[in-house]
Amino acid sequence: MQKYKRIVIKVGTKVITSKDRALDKERIKDIAQQISDIQDNGVEVLLVTSGAIGAGMWLLGLKKRPVNLHELQATASIGQNYLMHLYSEYFKLRGYLAGQILLTQEDFNDRKRYLNIKHTIGALLGHNAIPIINENDTVATDEIKCGDNDRLSSLVADLCQANSLIILTDVEGLIDRDGRLITSVQEINQNILSLAGSSRCDLGTGGMATKIESANTVTQAGIECVIANGKKKNILLDIMRGEGVGTTFKSAKSGLIARKRWIAFSSKSKGAISIDEGAVTALLKKNKSLLASGIVGVKGDFASGEVISIEGPKNREIARGVANYSSDEISKIKGLKSSRFKSILGYEGHDEVVHKDNLVIL
Ligand code: GLU
Repeated sequence: MQKYKRIVIKVGTKVITSKDRALDKERIKDIAQQISDIQDNGVEVLLVTSGAIGAGMWLLGLKKRPVNLHELQATASIGQNYLMHLYSEYFKLRGYLAGQILLTQEDFNDRKRYLNIKHTIGALLGHNAIPIINENDTVATDEIKCGDNDRLSSLVADLCQANSLIILTDVEGLIDRDGRLITSVQEINQNILSLAGSSRCDLGTGGMATKIESANTVTQAGIECVIANGKKKNILLDIMRGEGVGTTFKSAKSGLIARKRWIAFSSKSKGAISIDEGAVTALLKKNKSLLASGIVGVKGDFASGEVISIEGPKNREIARGVANYSSDEISKIKGLKSSRFKSILGYEGHDEVVHKDNLVIL
C-alpha cells in the first residue's frame, strides 16, 4: 500500500443493495472494515457513497423510484441519514470517526467554495476521520447537480489530489467484446469508449459510460482509476495490494496546474463565446490570451469571473477560461480593440477577455 498516500473510493448503490432492494448492512460493514484496514496502513481514504435514494426507498417501502422531484428529495433525505448512521457505527467499531460532506456542482463552480471544501477535507483528514461524501440530493435539481456520483467522485479525487480513484460497482470492470475483463487501459480512446454501453439502474444514476468519463477526467489529472466489483470479498484490500483485480486505467502525466484543472474539469461553463480563425490560431498555436477583437458571438448569461467555453468555427469547444467581462459587456466590445473599451463600458478594464493564465486548451 506504500505507493498510496490518499485515495478516493466510490461505492455505487448496487454494491450496497441486495437483490430484494434492501440495504445490505453486512456489505456496508465489510466496506467500512476494509477502509479501516487501509487507514490503519497509513493511507488516507475519502468515501463517496451513493445509496441515499435506495435506502430511502427501502425505509419508506417504495417499490418504484419517485418521479416527483420533492418526493425524490425527501426519499434521499431519509435514506442519507440512515446511510450515514450505518457507516458511522461501523467505522466507530474500528475507532474511526466519519464526517459527512454533501455537495452540488455549484460548490465546484465557485473557486472560493471549492477551496473551502478542500480545506475542510484537509481538516477532517487531519483528525484521521473518514470524509463521507454524497451529492446534496435534497437541494440539487438538474441545473446544479454534479450529474452522478461517478462524476462527483472524479471531482473529489482531483480536488484532494488523490493517488487513486477506486469505483466500486456490481461488475468485474470493463469487459471486452468477447466477454473478457480488460485488466489495464493505457489510453481512453474510441475503442474503450465504445465498450461502455449505457446500462443504468433506477436506484442510482451512473452506468459504465459515466465511469469511463470519470476515469478519463482523473487520469488526465495524473490520478490512476480502478473500476472493480464491490460485491467481491476483500476487493479493496486486493486492489491496494496490487493483486490485479478489476480494470486499472493508468494515469497520464498531468501538465496542468491545479487551477487550470479546476477550469478544465471541475467547474461547469456558464456560457460560451465564439471566436474567429485568427483568434483560434492565436490561442492554439501562439499560446496567447483571448482579445475582444477575435470574438464574433456570445451565448448564455454569465458574470465576469465565471468559467466559459471558447468555441471556434462550427461551435467546436476548443478551450475554457475565466471571463474578465460579463456576457453583456462582451456583447458590447466583441470585435473591437481594447482602446475602445473605456468609451463603451465607461471604465478601463482588462485588455484581455480571457487571460492566458486563466485559459485551458482542451
Ligand atoms: N446521490 C444519489 C444517492 O445517494 C446517487 C447518485 C448516483 O448514484 O450517481 O442515492
